[in-house]
Amino acid sequence: MRVVRFYAPRNLRVEDAPEPAAGPGELVVRVRNCSVCGTDAKIWRSGHPNLSPPRVLGHEVAGEVVEVGEGARGWSVGDRVQVIAAIPDGTCQECRRGWETVCPNQERIGYQHDGGFAELMRVPAKVLAVDGVNRVPAGLSFAEASLAEPLSCVINGQEHARVGAGQTVVVVGAGPIGCLHVRLARARGAARVFLVELRRRRLELAARLVAPDEAVAADATDAVAAVLGLTGGRGADVVIVAAASGKAQEDALRMAARRGTVSFFGGLPKDRPTIACDSNVVHYREVGIVGANGSSPDHNKQALELIATGAVPVADLITSRLPLERAVEGIHAVARGEAMKVTVEA
Ligand SMILES: [Zn+2]
Repeated sequence: MRVVRFYAPRNLRVEDAPEPAAGPGELVVRVRNCSVCGTDAKIWRSGHPNLSPPRVLGHEVAGEVVEVGEGARGWSVGDRVQVIAAIPDGTCQECRRGWETVCPNQERIGYQHDGGFAELMRVPAKVLAVDGVNRVPAGLSFAEASLAEPLSCVINGQEHARVGAGQTVVVVGAGPIGCLHVRLARARGAARVFLVELRRRRLELAARLVAPDEAVAADATDAVAAVLGLTGGRGADVVIVAAASGKAQEDALRMAARRGTVSFFGGLPKDRPTIACDSNVVHYREVGIVGANGSSPDHNKQALELIATGAVPVADLITSRLPLERAVEGIHAVARGEAMKVTVEA
């Protein structure tokens, strides 16, 4: 079969590989859609400490079951499925408390396990053991189902930030994740949602798609002043930073209302993880700062449901569809920040 394998930074190869077989408790899935994540672009550029090459990339996977391993009960050839990306062990202290997103033994598809930029993908028994394979609801395309994984991470982020009814929410970063944040915030009842982005073209494209109440062009405007102006000086209830920018995180603290919450949804580059935080903002204004690390199997189920019911539409966010042979091109487009969502499909 054909796969896209990572060998080293800036060295991705589309090549032949042996077809996987389903061992006990495993499935083999014919990948129909594997969408490109910002982290695929990051891996292409600089690799990842948890990724041992050569490795098939891709972790936003939907497809059809083509082989069922011994003991993988409940699954049949032909089932349409969506597969989780972050695999908790399900047994540690964190998992037992229901905190699967911070499982210290978390493994990931496309990092420790071969991923979905391939004709076929083996679904490890560990995934089935934590109920990490979901049936794609009837009427939902594989392309839409593949976006359940990024949406599940957005759900985790908004749970931590407690996005809810009547709030004013700011989303910083107008990529696909930022767009999903805008839509999910609305689905959770937010009263007003503002979208902030440095790159003008990206902001315009995103604003056309998700229609925020206000689109703030941070290249030309002071985004903090803009948010304060839009909220009568009060600030926003929740500020979500879906951009790998320390400056954006620092600004977010200045945009938050008293008792507001700031979500550091996006990670910072490993060599520049430090920001300047006015601790008195946190202290006197009782501002909370929360993180977000991937998603749990249950978040994936919730995401599929939100997409299937139309509460969070995703089909229009897909701006580029490429065959596997051209997947690298799609990863490059994401790295350049040109495309909205790119999906690789068969
Ligand atoms: Zn665990």
